Amino acid sequence: MSSSLPEDVQRAFLRTIPGLEQVHILRPGYAIEYDCIDPLQLDHTLALRDVPGLWCAGQLCGSSGYEEAAGQGLIAGINAARWVQDKPPFVLKRRDGYIGTLIDDLVTRGTNEPYRMMTSRSEYRLICRQDNADSRLMPLGHAIGLISDERLAAMETRQEQIRAEVSRLEKTIAPPNDKTNGFLEAHGTSPIALRGASLADLLRRPQLCYEDLAEIDPAPPSLPRPVTEQVKIQIKYEGYIRRQLKDIEEQRRLEDSPLPPDIEYLAIRTLRTEARQKLQAVRPETLGQAGRISGVSPADVGALMVYLSHREESSK
Ligand SMILES: Cc1cc2nc3c(=O)[nH]c(=O)nc-3n(C[C@H](O)[C@H](O)[C@H](O)COP(=O)(O)OP(=O)(O)OC[C@H]3O[C@@H](n4cnc5c(N)ncnc54)[C@H](O)[C@@H]3O)c2cc1C
Repeated sequence: MSSSLPEDVQRAFLRTIPGLEQVHILRPGYAIEYDCIDPLQLDHTLALRDVPGLWCAGQLCGSSGYEEAAGQGLIAGINAARWVQDKPPFVLKRRDGYIGTLIDDLVTRGTNEPYRMMTSRSEYRLICRQDNADSRLMPLGHAIGLISDERLAAMETRQEQIRAEVSRLEKTIAPPNDKTNGFLEAHGTSPIALRGASLADLLRRPQLCYEDLAEIDPAPPSLPRPVTEQVKIQIKYEGYIRRQLKDIEEQRRLEDSPLPPDIEYLAIRTLRTEARQKLQAVRPETLGQAGRISGVSPADVGALMVYLSHREESSK
């Protein structure tokens, strides 16, 4: 029987059930508190803004889940350690990985219900993949002393092999002869005419996979599977990834524009009332964060940009 009522009330109602008149409770039902801390009171290191030296992590900040709690614990722990060592804070951005998105969502938007880190919440989900977590995050981990030189070097060697193989496939041209076209037809894809095609172009065809190419590859190398997997992913999905990288680049311009901490949002008449109040409460650190606060529209971000440029002009 699911319940979070006080223990004496649970005992009393259980004893109203026929057959359970003298029941004893070994362990009463309980509920999880997801709203001990309003995450809007936290900064991106998960420190309470108004209580220096106190970090929070886990479901008391409004999230639910093992990974959500562990991810926050990692960041809070790293930052607590760096604070006592007088080192600058360590913050993962939304584009760095899901932990960055989770924390940014919590501390800039708050949450009305237990927050779950779903992939759909990340605008970077084509890039934040399990298969490239090492190349995305190891350099950051190494920079703060959590990844050894050896592990970083092994990752960099793998990346170099991937780059070299992608480049080789781009440059190796399959001629439009009987061997190539017989191979293509056998795999249910159209033959090539005139100029031939690079092996990378052929790999982009849905009917072909990396391993198939060995049949027409003049010098197929013997590479470890993690390398060939990455080569395949990078070539096959290059178009989609390039488009997302372009979007990210545009957002980065906005993301990184700092917002001075002393802005009096309530006094900016060009913002809508709701946006003024939300911005005043959240006090985002960058324009990118401002744009993600629910209740702050793209038009409000535009108004904020105009305000900032006027402010900059008048301070000259
Ligand atoms: C029944 C149930 C099933 C779940 N199933 C899943 C699932 O399948 N997958 C999933 O991802 N998530 C699941 N969750 C959610 C997940 O367990 C939690 O969100 C996550 O464990 C929260 O981690 P946390 O570290 O924030 O809190 P907790 O794991 O609750 O850790 C808090 C710790 O603080 C200790 N503590 C409390 N007060 C004090 C005090 N005063 N002094 C010292 N220590 C104290 C507690 O004993 C506890 O050990 C489930 C939760 C429940 C209740």
